[in-house]
Order: sequence, then C-alpha cells, then structure tokens
Amino acid sequence: MSDLAARAAQLDAADPLAAFRERFLPAPDVVAYLDGNSLGRPPAAAAQRLDRFVREEWGAGLIRGWTGDGPGGPWMQWPERVGDRIAAAALGAAPGQTVVADSTTVLLYKLARAAVDAAGPGRREIVFDEGDFPTDRYVLEGIAAERGCVLRPIRGAAPERVAEAVGPGTALVLLSHVSYHSGLRTDAATITRIAHDSGAALLLDLCHSVGVLPLELDAWGVDLAVGCTYKYLCGGPGSPAFGYVRRDRQDTLRQPVQGWMGRRDPFEMGPGYVPAAGVRGVVSGTPPILAMVPLLAGLDLLEEAGIAAVQAKAEALTGFAIELVDAWLAPLGVRLATPREAQWRGGHVMLRREGFRELLPRLWERGVIPDFREPDGIRIGPSPLSTSFAEVHAGLAVLRELLAGDTPAGGVRAARTAG
Ligand SMILES: *Cc1c(COP(=O)(O)O)cnc(C)c1O
Repeated sequence: MSDLAARAAQLDAADPLAAFRERFLPAPDVVAYLDGNSLGRPPAAAAQRLDRFVREEWGAGLIRGWTGDGPGGPWMQWPERVGDRIAAAALGAAPGQTVVADSTTVLLYKLARAAVDAAGPGRREIVFDEGDFPTDRYVLEGIAAERGCVLRPIRGAAPERVAEAVGPGTALVLLSHVSYHSGLRTDAATITRIAHDSGAALLLDLCHSVGVLPLELDAWGVDLAVGCTYKYLCGGPGSPAFGYVRRDRQDTLRQPVQGWMGRRDPFEMGPGYVPAAGVRGVVSGTPPILAMVPLLAGLDLLEEAGIAAVQAKAEALTGFAIELVDAWLAPLGVRLATPREAQWRGGHVMLRREGFRELLPRLWERGVIPDFREPDGIRIGPSPLSTSFAEVHAGLAVLRELLAGDTPAGGVRAARTAG
C-alpha cells in the first residue's frame, strides 16, 4: 500500500462519522462520488419515509393531512416546523425565523425585493459579487430593472471589497458565504457589520455552506438568508429552499409574491392580502410537502452527527484532497483554486487546468463523479456524512491516471475522445 493509501485507511479508521456512509443508498457503479455539494446522496431512510408518507399520510389521511395531526404535524405548519429544524441543526438561528418554500432562486427574488423596497427611495444600489452563482446575478438584474436600482458588482466577497463598494446609497448587499466556484469562505460577521455600518441590509446565500459548516446567523446579525436543501442537506433533486428573516425585520419587510398561504388565516379567503405574522409571510402558495419528506431523513442524519463533527470531517476531507493534489496533480499542471487555510474553505475544493472540460466525461465513465465549472475547473465536493477518505483517494487516483496518460498533446487526444 502506498503512503497516501495507508493514510486514507488511517483517516477512515479514526473517523467518528464513518458509520454514516452505510445510511445512504448505494450506487454500485460509483467509485468516488465527489459532487455532494451539488446533489447530496439519498439517505436510505428517504425511500422508506416517502413510501410511508404516500401510503399513510397522503393515501389514508387525504385532505385531512393539512390540518390533522399526522406524525410530522399538520402539513400547513411544515414550512415553519422544518425551517426551525434547519435553523437549529445548521443555521445558528432561534425558532420563528426560517421557512421552507419555493426554490432558492424564487426566495432570493422575494427576499431581495423585500429588502430593496424597504430601503426607501434614497437607497437604490445593490452590491453583489460578479463571480457569484448565475441565478443570484440574474435575479438581481431583474429586480434592478423592475425597481430602477443600480447594480454595483464587486470581485469576490472579501470584506475589503464590500467596504469599498457600500455607501449611503446602498440598499442591499447580496453575497454567498462560500463561493460555489472557488470554495472561498468569506467572513460573514465582518461583511454583515460593514453592510450595517453603511445602513444597508445583508442577504447571505448559504447554498454551499448549509449542512457542512456551522453558521451563526443570529450572532452575525444577518438580515436575510437563503439556501438549498438538495446539496449538503440531502433533500433530493429540486427539494425546496429555505429562507431566513431576522425576527426584528419581519414586520417591516414585505415580499412581493402575495399568495393565500402567506396570508393571515388563509382559509378566511377574505378580500385583500394581509400578511401572516412573523416569517410565515414569506410563504406564497401551497407548500411542497411531498418534496420535504426526503429532507426530513437528511435532517435526521445531520442532527444525529452534529454540525461540529460534520465540519471537522469536511476540513479533514478537503485537507486530504489538497495533500493528494500537491503530491500527484500539481506536477501534472493542476492548480488549486481554493484557499489552503481551512478557515477560509467551505466543503469543496476547486481544481483548475486546461482540458478539464474534455476530461470530465472520462472521469464519469470510470465511476468518478465530480463536476465541471467554467472555464476550466473540476470541483471536488466530498460530502462528509457520505464520503470516505478512501473514496477521495480512489477518485483523485483516477484523475491522476487520466492526466498522466495524456501525452503533452493530451488536450488534442482528450478532445477527440469527447468529440
Ligand atoms: C445551487 C445554488 C443555487 C440554486 O438555486 P436553485 O433555485 O435551487 O436552482 C443558487 N445559488 C447558489 C449560490 C447555489 O450554489
């Protein structure tokens, strides 16, 4: 056994979370699943929970489920109940500030619009990272057109950049806590303070940090936050998003999609929209109950493991990936685009090299599944509860083999294979 393979085996033997891997459904042809930051694996219990829900709660309970007392409580209350579970397990947020609803994109729109509208006519600027995930940028473009706002792009989410960009005209700062691309983690407490010092609201996108890093939304004083549940929270493809509105902002923020499910007493069905008290007003239409069922299985696992242990393993997994990159891949021209200091990383590492686009399908053919991001990046996202150190070792060993097998004119060969 090579030194690095032995190290992987040692790390797995000492891993307090190792047994959680068995709690996920197997994927027999997969050698290394390195894309848990894009779509988490299914907890085995998700299949049982879905089956039981369909038969017992939907099938036998029928319409009574909305108000009746099923095992998870009335479906009407799921947005807040499941939101509070996410808040307690992963967000560092007290109850009553988080709901599950919509998609991240739609919640981004609703909360960003609410913040811009609340800022008043003197504040018309929106600060954001020009390298942020596309949906975040597109949503802001739409809001700017709709509300006559000016977009102020910055490069990256570092506090210095934010400080240079905000001012008396800033309504909103929207940034990702962990960059979907580089994996760089920003200092959320500091950027919140900078936004607040200028009188602006901060909306934090948590898609790449929720469920892998401990968050402290209440302590940081973040105004608003959104995040995915299908990445580290393992809610399944298209599972709904969550939105957080700090308690003392709930009375003054009005989101623009006024639907009956966010109204005070929806079944009154009366004239005129009156928002429900508290964070419930973020909900618009009928909550996606069925799509929350697998998420409950993901939350069970996270609650059992504890976010601190998950973060410790994320740090060890990404640290080990970086060791392998240094030993094997750097000599083959691969650059690490993620910080080496663990405190500035999230749960994934970004590797860059020309030709990675053509290489990705060859990795997938070999059962090694990371993803590709423009222009030349392969992201390695080993989700802590479902990934072993041996898996990271095996996956990067295949990447090394494919790169080493390419001649100096390897780009040409790879392109021909892909074509
Ligand atoms: C994954 C991700 C999204 C996804 O938005 P959807 O509406 O679920 O498609 C949004 N923002 C960031 C930063 C992401 O990483």
